[in-house]
Amino acid sequence: MLNIPSLLLTFLFGGALRAPVQQPGFDELSIRTIQFPSYHIENLPFAVIEGLQISPALPRPLSSDSLNAARAAFANITSLTGTSISDEAIEELQGRYERRLWGAGYKDITGFDAHARPLGKLSAAPDYPTPDASKHPELKPMLAKVNASEMKEYVSHLSTAYATRYYLNANASAPAFWIQSQFVSWLGIEQVKLANNSDFDQPNVIGRIEAKSGDVNAPIIIFGGHLDSTSQTPYVKAPGADDDASGVAVMMTIMRILKDSNFQAETYAIEGHAYAGEEGGLLGSQTLARSYKDAGKEIRGMLQFEMVGWQPDTPTNLGKSSTISVLSDPDITMSTHMRKVVAAYVPTAENRNPECGRSCSDHYSFHDEGYPVVCIASYGPNDSNLNPGYHTTNDTVDKLNFERSADFVKAGLAWVVEVAA
Ligand SMILES: [Zn+2]
Repeated sequence: MLNIPSLLLTFLFGGALRAPVQQPGFDELSIRTIQFPSYHIENLPFAVIEGLQISPALPRPLSSDSLNAARAAFANITSLTGTSISDEAIEELQGRYERRLWGAGYKDITGFDAHARPLGKLSAAPDYPTPDASKHPELKPMLAKVNASEMKEYVSHLSTAYATRYYLNANASAPAFWIQSQFVSWLGIEQVKLANNSDFDQPNVIGRIEAKSGDVNAPIIIFGGHLDSTSQTPYVKAPGADDDASGVAVMMTIMRILKDSNFQAETYAIEGHAYAGEEGGLLGSQTLARSYKDAGKEIRGMLQFEMVGWQPDTPTNLGKSSTISVLSDPDITMSTHMRKVVAAYVPTAENRNPECGRSCSDHYSFHDEGYPVVCIASYGPNDSNLNPGYHTTNDTVDKLNFERSADFVKAGLAWVVEVAA
């Protein structure tokens, strides 16, 4: 039997199916258009999506009985909205948080024409030079500025100053404004932009360093992380220290060090991005990636940081300074290059290479627009070493190892300098 937590039951069935404090367009009965990893597209009420994800996981493989039970739990909503729930939706979404799979398990393409673009087309990875630390003495003083306490400060703020950073919570824009204020203090106000999302109140944040050439249309080197968080109680408490305050902290630290070092790429602009609504199906990054494509912007490369702070001792990282996983998909050429960057600049790290899975994080939004992307993390999806607090209220700052995760700042700085050459 499907056992829905009582809080959820209250909000699903407590009287008139009233939404908690939410933005317009995301009430419980609103219909979202969802693209699953198989590219299957389905219209589902929002309450079904959230409810399935939060439910305790049913035993796998699912049986016809368990599929029926999952459907029955939402019969109220599906009959009201005239929708039905496919087997694939239940397979992907049901018990998602407890199963510790990465991301939402889908891409929310509501309002986008899914067929207007060749989704999933493999990008042409640029022909980067072979990573070689001896060719980049300019990196030495930058790497010397990397320190664990800076990252810890950012993660502490993001995971404690806001009870939750869930993209639909009433205060969802506050962490974005804080990241914006940090960027402004380093980069100047004219180099910082907010990119609003039309149907929820959490903007993407963009900090930018122009190309030395002064060309405002120069191809862009992008690195990012997602600023939103989630948990079993997303509207109430979701610290998201590892997922993904840690990735945002790496991004911010790199931007600060680049600026502090007066680093500019000759012919490329550099942007640090904090993405909104990743846990809602790559919402913020999808809007941003599409707007870049529509504006004809060129991207030299895009690097995503996902959950870098959980760094336990394992049998394979004994004596290593950290564990860095370079996700192997969606672009093997980009992943191979990134592994060489890690090997050349952070040779003390355990260098892993697991698979991420379609739509696992924001880099897939850029990939789907044909841009070259790569993602690094401490552990990949469904890994036995993945943070046990993942997508729970236990994803807190005290559990993270900042000495080890500072290696991600080094790898990210090295990647920027390498692809800028
Ligand atoms: Zn994440």
